[in-house]
Amino acid sequence: MNFSSKPVLVFWETTRACLLSCLHCRASAITKPLPGELSTEEGFKLMDSVRSFGKPYPTIIFTGGDPLMRKDLFDLLGYASSSGVSFAVSPAVTKLLTKDALAKLKEAGSASISLSLDGSSPEIHDAIRGEAGTFQRTIEAISNAIQLGVKVQVNTAIMKRNFADLPEILHVIRGLGVRTWELFFLVKVGRGESLQDLSPEENESVCNFLYDASHYDLTVRCVEGPFIRRIVKQRKELGRYWNDANYHKLHSRLVELEGLPQPESTSTLGTRGTLDGDGVIFVGYDGTISPGGLIPINLGNVRRDNLVDLYQRNKLLISIRDRLLNGFCGACEFKEICGGSRARAYSFNNDALSSDRACMLAAAV
Ligand code: SF4
Repeated sequence: MNFSSKPVLVFWETTRACLLSCLHCRASAITKPLPGELSTEEGFKLMDSVRSFGKPYPTIIFTGGDPLMRKDLFDLLGYASSSGVSFAVSPAVTKLLTKDALAKLKEAGSASISLSLDGSSPEIHDAIRGEAGTFQRTIEAISNAIQLGVKVQVNTAIMKRNFADLPEILHVIRGLGVRTWELFFLVKVGRGESLQDLSPEENESVCNFLYDASHYDLTVRCVEGPFIRRIVKQRKELGRYWNDANYHKLHSRLVELEGLPQPESTSTLGTRGTLDGDGVIFVGYDGTISPGGLIPINLGNVRRDNLVDLYQRNKLLISIRDRLLNGFCGACEFKEICGGSRARAYSFNNDALSSDRACMLAAAV
């Protein structure tokens, strides 16, 4: 996979407005839109820019805040659909996400929707999401969407307070019929700054657990945890090499809840994927272009810059794609397949090309 000419995903933060106030919110979302949001017309132009990357067009992810807070959301989706650009929507689970809204998202042509579930119980999920009743509403929204035939991806942010609950979350979502699970490794930006992220050893345990989980007819993806690709390679080559107490607990609980995977099953995790600026680009609510949603580096603005040009020629993005990295990540034998989280490197060191300290290899030196 070479993403030097175009990304596969363009994230558009359609608004920062959201009725929830989740502890880990990247956007530190607020209930009212901020001044300077891209207008409907500017949104159409952004989609034209995405088309100018050429076919196959990158997929646009309509994110936020909560995209349902935008009154023109369905006009925007209609424009994307009539332009032939595929898209997915990432709504917040609030009272706006009715069955009717889900049906409209399906009718508008959304390839999938992603919904967040950070715990297998109201005690864990609602505490993280900042509002009682969100767990129940999320379960209902997932069931409604699946009944309507909408493809659902469940997103889970991993942190100290929920990582032991991962097998239970997997059990809940598989029971609901979800087949894609995307795990977010915390980066300290927005409200996520105040959360305790996992130690490198805990990340190693979680990644090994996720490798196991990816054998249960479930597509597992990781965001800001590219070192899982190193772990996939190591597991394939070395077998089970990591056996600490956390991993052991996660693995045993998985087997207790789901049984052993089918002998012929293969992992849905691969050794190549995207990185901020390498297959991914992010457009903020006000048009600011960044390598990714968790890396607040202002590369330009869609109001004045050509998105294609910027993606292909920006020096930082080229360095990320060519793995011209500093510190341990720069010397690491796995850098081509992994590359480390550029957002975490930036949040720790103010240098997007430095090492990812959440990885056990980089943290050890
Ligand atoms: S040291 Fe960096 S490049 Fe190597 S596996 Fe860890 S995060 Fe990836």
